[in-house]
Amino acid sequence: MKPPMCELCSSGFDLSDPELGDLLYFKKTASDKAWYKKAEEPGFVGHPPNAAWFCGDHIKKAKELLDFPLGEALQQMRSELSEYVDLGDKEIIEDKIKPLDSIIEEETIEPKGFWAKVKSWFIR
Ligand SMILES: [Zn+2]
Repeated sequence: MKPPMCELCSSGFDLSDPELGDLLYFKKTASDKAWYKKAEEPGFVGHPPNAAWFCGDHIKKAKELLDFPLGEALQQMRSELSEYVDLGDKEIIEDKIKPLDSIIEEETIEPKGFWAKVKSWFIR
């Protein structure tokens, strides 16, 4: 059995309260079932492939995904986590766009002014 460390964020936790972290068993895939069959052999030691620890921050979400194989559940949880990261990036990008826009405006005004000057030379 693996030590209690969150499968998603690798943080350790206190085992005294299942709300703060626990071992969850996910839907068995075909290869998981083969593992369980092998595990019945005497002297077999290992961590069930469909079982994973989750910390207090992630156990609630993990419990919603117990009907999925562990790999799929982890993928879903990771993609949700990366969405939060993306949102953070967007905010940073928007901050960068604002000053860029004002630079572009300044630049477009200048050529116009330049061509107006050129025109005025010919009109005179
Ligand atoms: Zn975690």
